[in-house]
Amino acid sequence: MCYNLVMHKIAVVIYGPPGSGKGTQANLLALSHGLIHFDSGRFIEFLLKDPRNAGDPVIDRQRALFEKGELCETEWVMDVIGRQTKKIVAADFGIVLSGSPRTFFEAFGDDKTKGILPLLQEAYGKEDVHVVFLRVEDKVSIERNSHRKLCTTCGTQLINNPELVNPFCPFCGGSLYTRVFDNEAKIVIRLEEFRKKTLPILEELPRRGIKLAEVNGELLPYLVHREIVEKSSV
Ligand SMILES: [Zn+2]
Repeated sequence: MCYNLVMHKIAVVIYGPPGSGKGTQANLLALSHGLIHFDSGRFIEFLLKDPRNAGDPVIDRQRALFEKGELCETEWVMDVIGRQTKKIVAADFGIVLSGSPRTFFEAFGDDKTKGILPLLQEAYGKEDVHVVFLRVEDKVSIERNSHRKLCTTCGTQLINNPELVNPFCPFCGGSLYTRVFDNEAKIVIRLEEFRKKTLPILEELPRRGIKLAEVNGELLPYLVHREIVEKSSV
């Protein structure tokens, strides 16, 4: 028997300040729509922590920036994200990106370097690239981030509610950790970086013919998910 398997493939990019739930929403969308969630932040963290990369001068430099709560160098990030994105496209999957491309240049590129958004438009078609912005107040962002714990094994994020003291991951039982950049001073730096470097991307989208859905990121995750699906018609 010979037949073609055809699936309508889409690309979704989820933006929002730190603690807005980008990763959670990307995971929900990946599960509900059969997409690959490419969490570039986590991917980069894996690269920086991989002992096989220790001593590499380029990676050492990125690690130093990362640990200060600053963005890694644009060219390096673009190279890493671009290569991984192309692999997912080549494997014929839809994609959801959380928090990247982070800067105007990463998003749109220039005459010499193709940005991530034009790359997605070429791969998936202009109509099938969707951008979502999770709106969250600064004080909510700081509150959520400074109490964030992650599982060392599966990466599940937990909100550390004092009434729900849970020393282990409820999903896999692994131990928990707090990321080096999840403290208030560093979150304020990341909020400022987000405003300066990422918001201009959202302002540019209409000129590039890319649809933007703005949703309230302060609701419970399943409600945010519902709003994303409704507003972006995915
Ligand atoms: Zn776990």
